[in-house]
Amino acid sequence: MSGPVVGRFAPSPSGYMHLGNLLAMLLAWLDCRALGGEMVFRMEDLDPARSKTAYREAMAADLRWLGLDWDRGWPEDAGYAQSKRTALYEAAFQRLAARELVYPCFCRRSERLAAASAPHPGEREHDGGCRCARLTKGERAALEASGRRPAWKLRSPDETITVHDGHYGSFTQNPARDVGDFIIRRADGVYAYQLAVSVDDMLMGVTRVVRGRDLLSSAPRQKWLIETLGGTAPAYCHCPLLTGGEGKLSKRIGSLSTETLRKEYRGEEIVGRLAWLCGLLDREEPVSARELVPAFSWDRICRGDVNMIL
Ligand code: GLU
Repeated sequence: MSGPVVGRFAPSPSGYMHLGNLLAMLLAWLDCRALGGEMVFRMEDLDPARSKTAYREAMAADLRWLGLDWDRGWPEDAGYAQSKRTALYEAAFQRLAARELVYPCFCRRSERLAAASAPHPGEREHDGGCRCARLTKGERAALEASGRRPAWKLRSPDETITVHDGHYGSFTQNPARDVGDFIIRRADGVYAYQLAVSVDDMLMGVTRVVRGRDLLSSAPRQKWLIETLGGTAPAYCHCPLLTGGEGKLSKRIGSLSTETLRKEYRGEEIVGRLAWLCGLLDREEPVSARELVPAFSWDRICRGDVNMIL
């Protein structure tokens, strides 16, 4: 791909970050800097109920502590926070609606609530479909008249989409069959993760998406959305997850947060440990992120998830 290389950090401030998030941030930064690219920091605070200022601030502090810098984005420019970008999502939504690619869904409140955050392992992605995809005009009018606010679903493309992941190789999906129609706007008006992340990667000129492999199954939908909206999809490079015996270390099941780690370790110690755990270093030793740039290569990074006992 010609043109500037643009990478991104895209954390969600629904909790403090943990080591698994930091590994994805480190690799996103190394990938971008090794290519001489520009780094964007986007704050994925789509869901007002789950986003907290303390978490937002901690994320910027965490990145600085690890020595990971960025060229544009949050917090210097508030326009890089998803909470401030609703008009852009609305415009994309209207373009999809004009092509009759969306329909209102009047059921399943819980799934509408979950849609603002990225899907995580173990979460069911295919909801089995619902009758709302086939409502007659009369049925739809009656539901609208009842005052129920619908969520909006995208008609999932019934086509084979292949993403050539830079680390895991070809990943093929038929979204209609494998994930079904999915929510792009919740009933409360909050735009969903899949739409927002696609619009943002497109409009921010992102050319390389590096993130945990739990989001590999979202990549074909995002590629399709970006291309349908007239953009060029970025290259995707997913990375291994860190596990601690219970599966993915996630904010939701609780783990050592960076709030704790930052008090106990220097950034170089954590960078050294992460680099060693994923295969970039042969032994564990403190190192600055900058020192890892010249020898960075995806070939050295393991593909299996990393079981980590701190
Ligand atoms: N904000 C998402 C998360 O923290 C990541 C989105 C992405 O990298 O596409 O899970």
